[in-house]
Amino acid sequence: MSILALARPEVRAFEPYRSARLEAGRAEVMLNANESPWAPPGRAGLNRYPEPQPEELRARLAGFFGVPAAGVLLARGSDEAIDLLLRAFCRPGRDAVLISPPTFGMYAVAARLQGAAVHLAPLAGADFALDAEAVLGACTAATRLVFVCAPNNPTGGLVPTATIERLATALRGRALVVVDEAYVEYAGTPSAAELLPAYENLVVLRTLSKAWGLAGARIGALLATPEIVQLLCGIMAPYPLPLPAVAAALAVVDEAGAARLRRRVGVVRRERERLAAALTDLPAVRAVLPSAANFLAVRFRDAGGVLTELARAGILVRDIRSQPRLEDALRISIGTPAENRRLLRVLRANTPGESR
Ligand SMILES: *Cc1c(COP(=O)(O)O)cnc(C)c1O
Repeated sequence: MSILALARPEVRAFEPYRSARLEAGRAEVMLNANESPWAPPGRAGLNRYPEPQPEELRARLAGFFGVPAAGVLLARGSDEAIDLLLRAFCRPGRDAVLISPPTFGMYAVAARLQGAAVHLAPLAGADFALDAEAVLGACTAATRLVFVCAPNNPTGGLVPTATIERLATALRGRALVVVDEAYVEYAGTPSAAELLPAYENLVVLRTLSKAWGLAGARIGALLATPEIVQLLCGIMAPYPLPLPAVAAALAVVDEAGAARLRRRVGVVRRERERLAAALTDLPAVRAVLPSAANFLAVRFRDAGGVLTELARAGILVRDIRSQPRLEDALRISIGTPAENRRLLRVLRANTPGESR
């Protein structure tokens, strides 16, 4: 059975829009796409529609991710990849996704938008671990996508490779296991992309938005079997990736960029441990969750008060109190060493927890 048997029948039978660029590529005289023959001053090439899947960037990212280029779909951030998966695999009013809260909000948003049900297998215990058996127990015949966020946003916890293999094995022929690795560079653990040759129902999401420092370029990658990549490519916008964004990525994603990424990840990891230790010592702090990512989920005695104090001092952190079992928590991204020192100075000067 092909993995595409899990896709919506109407998407499998879908006749994609054939863009001019897709049909013909490039020639000396291009009179096939109703473009202007003149580029704006200093913007050579910008008058032309871009490649639907820019080959050079695709090849480079495939190299960094250790997968074949045909197994890479470039998208406008992993956000678009999540949306495409929902559209391709979930029939409105019939199919479902499974998520393990507290987790990244876009899985449920994309599911609701598609009219797919959202089933839950909450993370368990004080360390918010993913329980593979609970996930499998919560899967039904309607489940098409199982989202695994590793490291998880907003708790920062890792998911062992054995857990992902257990899910992919048990759900073979039934559902896709989607491993979102937005923060994997900070974890220092191997990517689930290594497992792709063994599991055709495995999908891995990577992004240039975090460790690569390119959130403004909106580029993410979905890694999967070429069949899935082609299916999703057929339902996405004809020219999804703007030329300036691709150019920015090409300027950053190379050996020098990778070396810079490793240095900065090193700084973030040192700062993460330093900040976690310093926060744990504050009377206002109840607990700091162990994190493998570039943020810390921190439980405060008075999270609302801390939020206000920090805002007054010009520091924004993320309020995650609406997430299950995190009603006293804020998520703090790791900044530069100077920014982290400033955060600690404010928290030490104003500790709402002490006075209560
Ligand atoms: C930040 C983040 C992303 C990245 O989304 P992009 O659309 O690629 O910027 C994906 N997944 C999770 C869990 C995130 O926290």
